[in-house]
Amino acid sequence: MTTFENRRILLVDDMPAVHEDYRKILAPADVVGDLNQDEALLFGEVLRATPVRFELDSAYQGVEAVDKVRAALRADLPYAMAFVDMRMPPGWDGVETIERLWQEDARLQIVLCTAYSDYSWTDVFARLGALDRLLILKKPFDNIEIRQMASALTVKWQMTQEAAFHMSSLEQAVAERTRELSDANIIVQNSPVILYRLRGEPAFPLIYISHNVTKFGHDRAALLASPNWAASLIDPADQADVGAAMARVLEKDSQGASIEFRLRTGDGACRWVENRYIPVRDKDGRLIEVEGIIIDITEHKATEERIALLARTDGLTGLANWGTFNDRLHQAFGAAQRGAVPFGILYLDLDHFKSVNDTLGHPVGDQLLQEVGQRLVRCTRDSDLVARLGGDEFAVLQAEMGEPANAGALAAKLQAALAAPYQFNGNEVRISVSIGICPYVSGIQGPDIMLEQADLALYRSKDEGRNQYHFHSDDLDRQVIDRAALAGDLRKAIEHNELELEYQPQVELSSQNIVGMEALVRWNHPTRGVLAPGVFIPIAEKNGTIVALGQWVLDQACRQMRLWRDEGLALPVIAVNLSLFQFKNDQELFRSITATIAKWHLAPADLEFDVTEATLAQLKWTKNEVLLQLHELGVKIAIDDFGSEYSSFDYVRAYGVNHLKIAQSFIKKSVDDADSAATIRAIVNFARDIGIGVIGQGIETEQQRALLASTGLATQGQGFHLSKAVGAIRATEFLRQSRVVPQPCDRNIDQGTTSVSGRLNAASELP
Ligand code: C2E
Ligand code: MG
Repeated sequence: MTTFENRRILLVDDMPAVHEDYRKILAPADVVGDLNQDEALLFGEVLRATPVRFELDSAYQGVEAVDKVRAALRADLPYAMAFVDMRMPPGWDGVETIERLWQEDARLQIVLCTAYSDYSWTDVFARLGALDRLLILKKPFDNIEIRQMASALTVKWQMTQEAAFHMSSLEQAVAERTRELSDANIIVQNSPVILYRLRGEPAFPLIYISHNVTKFGHDRAALLASPNWAASLIDPADQADVGAAMARVLEKDSQGASIEFRLRTGDGACRWVENRYIPVRDKDGRLIEVEGIIIDITEHKATEERIALLARTDGLTGLANWGTFNDRLHQAFGAAQRGAVPFGILYLDLDHFKSVNDTLGHPVGDQLLQEVGQRLVRCTRDSDLVARLGGDEFAVLQAEMGEPANAGALAAKLQAALAAPYQFNGNEVRISVSIGICPYVSGIQGPDIMLEQADLALYRSKDEGRNQYHFHSDDLDRQVIDRAALAGDLRKAIEHNELELEYQPQVELSSQNIVGMEALVRWNHPTRGVLAPGVFIPIAEKNGTIVALGQWVLDQACRQMRLWRDEGLALPVIAVNLSLFQFKNDQELFRSITATIAKWHLAPADLEFDVTEATLAQLKWTKNEVLLQLHELGVKIAIDDFGSEYSSFDYVRAYGVNHLKIAQSFIKKSVDDADSAATIRAIVNFARDIGIGVIGQGIETEQQRALLASTGLATQGQGFHLSKAVGAIRATEFLRQSRVVPQPCDRNIDQGTTSVSGRLNAASELP
């Protein structure tokens, strides 16, 4: 943009003399004396002090004038104005020249000089238009007029240029600002940032929120109008935290607060956002507004979580790593100390893993570790944690282990799962594992001690030949291993004919007459001797053998009943115990009972089933109807250990129970403890009222028998004082006598019977 002071004037006339005249007229005042007066007249003294110097150029034809203007523009020295003669033979006339000049430079101010008119002025203006750049000067010229025009038009050129320059810079500035604003707007619109303002008083009404909140599926106007805008935006789970952050903003001198929360979107989903509050205060420090910025950090958070996950997992197997395992161990330890179900830890080390690596190469070794990890996960529950601690070492945190035996069972399961062959690129690989176990037991000092103990147990497994598991304590080791062995043996016990039934007479207390026999199972273990049901029934319940065992007992009891009947011995009823686990497959149980009764040609009423109160409660809860079906069939039902658990009289009515068997604990205390005696009397009275019988269990002394007998005529009892459980031969002898003779002393005196009870093995002390 040319902004120099432009006094350049082009003289266009065919007469050289006229050029001379112009030059004289327009020469500076101090150069041409006779012009001084004119200038003084025109501009006063000021001009004299600052004489105007015009730069004059001459062209004698229109074509030449156009060339000069073009050249001047090229040199960036445009003319401010031109004096153009109207008639310039032989070339263009003034009007055409002006047209051509303006085609080159539209800014050029022009004075058209003419003595007479070839055109009417109206025609000239109509052709040239642009009246703001054209003046007409009629000959003869007035010198002052020439100077005035030269001064005025060159100044006008200058001012027009400057005005145009200012205007264009202004326009440029406006355009730039507009672009900036619209850029800013686009940035805000496209950014994940929401801006908002709240009035700075506790209900915190929303007074502004940026438009891009609509991207989160919210209606901006609805939010602004709603007093519950916060409830629409903040996930209920985070509202309390956000409220607390707002409270911090309210504090005097607070610089603001920042909080992460879940922002609810219009469709009910959630985005993680970071929210910053900036308090705006007046000069006295009063809170006027709160400005807020909400930034969507969902992706950032997801990345953080991925990184955190990477930090928590083992890269090769994707299992938890050592750090994660350790954290969970500490948590579980704390929970167990507060009374949660005990957990256990199992340390695993693959046997001879190194040789797999050495012979088949590391890639196969890696595949093996991955497969081992997957198998371990498949063997455990979701609540357990499987971790790779490094190399070929793994660990399992068994949540809710309960008894240590369950950790042993898991170890055996893991061993079996890992022992199955692996196939890698056509190679079959087999591997075994050594395991060390430390269960949480009360009094254990801490999680780190548990780890040490598990590690020691693992070393023991390795030391003793690998491919085995050991507990941290010898005692536990023996007990659990015993139990596991017993569970294995039990599966074979039925086939090997190792089970045996004994019968304990149930006696009418007033007459001593035998009114029933309770069948009680014993196990003649090939190496451990006779085992009591308390030792193996819980194991049978756990590993499922209870179903076959129960069926065997029922069959044997019915068979014995048939033998007695055939011999003409009048035994009213034979009692058989049923455990809850036998009810799992209820219709199968019903079928097998009816089939067995039919097989031995007995009547349903020849059988009585003992079930505990806990079993009844469970059956009722799970709406298991099989006991009711049996009752309808005519089978008798007795509640074992009545009074020791729920003592719900409702069950008694609901199941049409035939006998309540009073728990031994009441009988034992009844002689010395008035409350127990009163409880027994209450049970007897209740039973009599609703017309059912009572059997006192575990009568060990004459006093106990007498006390029970005194409660009513029909009371029955069983116990060592009357008879222990005895073998079939001895039971048959009792039946032939049809009554038992109470023993003069307590149960410790050998009754000289053929009972195997005296042989019951101390293995009953096993857990
Ligand atoms: P239960 O049904 O309460 O059986 C009575 C238990 O008390 C028997 O123990 C019996 O020998 C014992 N007993 C009887 N009189 C006295 C006494 O005066 N003093 C003391 N201290 N004990 C006495 P046993 O045979 O060891 O059976 C224990 C439990 O095992 C039974 O308790 C029953 O719940 C279960 N059981 C036995 N046989 C079977 C069976 O075939 N199937 C099922 N599911 N459970 C059985
Ligand atoms: Mg019983």
